[in-house]
Amino acid sequence: MIVNMSEKATEQEINHIIERIREAGYQPHVTRGTERTIVAAVGSGRRHEIEALQVAPGVDNVVPIAQPFKLVSRQVRPERSIVRINGVEIGGPEVVVIAGPCSVESREQLLDTAHAVKRAGAAMLRGGAYKPRTSPYDFQGLGLEALKILSEARDVTGLPVVTEVMSTEDIDIICEHADMLQVGARNMQNFALLRRLATVNKPILLKRGPSATVKEWLLAAEYLLSGGNSQVVLCERGIKTFETEMRNTIDLAAIALARDLSHLPVIADPSHGTGKQSLIAAVSRAAVAVDADGLIIEVHPCPERALSDGPQSLDFAGFGRVMRALAEPLRRTASVPPTVPAASQNSP
Ligand code: PEP
Ligand code: MN
Repeated sequence: MIVNMSEKATEQEINHIIERIREAGYQPHVTRGTERTIVAAVGSGRRHEIEALQVAPGVDNVVPIAQPFKLVSRQVRPERSIVRINGVEIGGPEVVVIAGPCSVESREQLLDTAHAVKRAGAAMLRGGAYKPRTSPYDFQGLGLEALKILSEARDVTGLPVVTEVMSTEDIDIICEHADMLQVGARNMQNFALLRRLATVNKPILLKRGPSATVKEWLLAAEYLLSGGNSQVVLCERGIKTFETEMRNTIDLAAIALARDLSHLPVIADPSHGTGKQSLIAAVSRAAVAVDADGLIIEVHPCPERALSDGPQSLDFAGFGRVMRALAEPLRRTASVPPTVPAASQNSP
């Protein structure tokens, strides 16, 4: 339930509502907006006691929360959230580009990439240390060695670092080296992992599961917020469909929908979302057009030699082109021929 306080509600009236919500067996969550305060009653308690607060002083109205997710909902917090990662703000006016290799493979590979993506305008660095691989015979990541390389890259470039956490055992060591922790698509509903990450003091990048609905994705985020971590960025990275030409099908409308339903920032991953180098520029621009708060893009010094995800990784020049394309106003690019020949446009 949500208790919407009136614009003129006093601090004492707000505190009274908070107290009554606790007495009714719910947890109160207060959102102080620019105009009014909203107090959400979350959990399970005696509903009729909350409904009765309609007549309490300073209350405008009491309404049910329409969705199963509560704290991530825009009903509870109508204003957009900004997640801050060591000086970088995701969810503000800037489109934040996170770039780097799928996996950290060596010190040289990561440092070269970090310098290159920074020069091209990326605001954050990505790189996998612990890799979720479909086959146990594939490269599994350098683990701690990779974390140390990521730390060094952050120190020399100033770019905050995001890396994936696959297991609760690795959380502490990853927190020592990374600025943001990624929950990979395969772990979106790893509830033990989510519960532990709810207690860490680091922002979380929560990828959408390959077969998760938007509601399930937002409920996964609810685990983090309800456990105490509200620094959450959602990431659409493509879902499984009948399409076989692309690795996944990036669900661009889900970016707009998630931003409609939730105050959390939402970014797009065109690399995993398509699996194809050639589509990254177009899909990045499309994601920005549907109001994505940022992008996460795989970049490798030599994609043909990459130990993971080479076919979807851009080289440095390719990444530079994507960044320049993003800076252009949204319109058809010169390389796309007009659908109607110019001469026939004026004909009757
Ligand atoms: C990755 O970011 O390299 C990755 C494995 O992502 P996802 O969990 O989206 O597959
Ligand atoms: Mn990858």
